[in-house]
Amino acid sequence: MKGNNRSTTVARSFGVLSNADIAELLARQAKEESGILIRAYRRAARSAFLWPEQAADLIANNRPLTELHGIGPFMEKRIRTWIEKPPTLRNVPPDRRDFLALADARKLLKQNPKWAGQLRGDLQMHTRYSDGSGTIREMANAANERGYEYIGITDHSKGLKIAGGIDEARLQKQMEEIARTNAALGRKRASVTVLCSLEMNLNPRGEGDMDPKALARLDIVLGSFHSQLRKKEDQTKRYVAAIRNRDIQVLGHPRGRIYNYRLGLKADWARVFAAARKIDKAVEIDCYPDRQDLNLSLLKIARREGVRVSLGTDAHHPWQLEFIELGVAAALKAKIPADRVINFMPLSELKRWVKTVRSRR
Ligand SMILES: [Zn+2]
Repeated sequence: MKGNNRSTTVARSFGVLSNADIAELLARQAKEESGILIRAYRRAARSAFLWPEQAADLIANNRPLTELHGIGPFMEKRIRTWIEKPPTLRNVPPDRRDFLALADARKLLKQNPKWAGQLRGDLQMHTRYSDGSGTIREMANAANERGYEYIGITDHSKGLKIAGGIDEARLQKQMEEIARTNAALGRKRASVTVLCSLEMNLNPRGEGDMDPKALARLDIVLGSFHSQLRKKEDQTKRYVAAIRNRDIQVLGHPRGRIYNYRLGLKADWARVFAAARKIDKAVEIDCYPDRQDLNLSLLKIARREGVRVSLGTDAHHPWQLEFIELGVAAALKAKIPADRVINFMPLSELKRWVKTVRSRR
């Protein structure tokens, strides 16, 4: 096949499409289609963010795009025509803007091994206790394979019924299982410690739905909004209230955006981050590919305000721990200082920080 040389030349003369560009073209194509193809294109757009290699590189090396997850011969043909003759990409809609692709994140982290090497853990993930598919032990094993020092198990709290949120009694059971898991991991000389945590559901007034006494027993608590996320008006007040909620240390997926679905909330972010900085709380980079929340533009404001940042994959399956790279790369791109990333702290320091934040009540 002569495709190799030809594609390389074409790509060079017309500029190279990144996987994020291809995702945008796929999302646009979905709008042109009808029936089953709408979903197929939308799904392919989302999967492009997770391809481990640049599609353009595959073509340049004469490899089939069907090597990529979710790409069959039909999609391959379409993507190939775009790569060979890249269309201009203007006016990316706001709900698809500022998302990193894994291939780009990995490249960036490879160029900055010192930065990536500081990561010690992942502070948001779900298990079978709420809407995840893995057990605590399976998540811990996956984390151990990554060489982590700790992970936080953050199942949903009871107010979020749709995601199987857990009440205080279930949380207590989970804590007991985590203690048993840690003991077993210790016997195997595993590197990882499982932290008892929770993604507490916050109402639009920034209030939680769990007994503060139960929360005080946890190693660390995240609080997140899951309702009224399509409000158009400024939500600064809600965020400042959430930040000041005495029972949480981290504000999870702050904007509440979802790729190609929901833009998320508006706020005076400098004020929100300054409020968090003042009482030393952290704001999260939810690394789930569809979320990437905080995103780069807000992270730049976070850096200026000096607020702490927490990284969490929001993994619902053990393999999804790899999403962390999207957040580590975003923090690097935004030039967040290493001492502001709470996942770069050793476990003892992380626990000390939580204790200090709690004592400020
Ligand atoms: Zn959430």
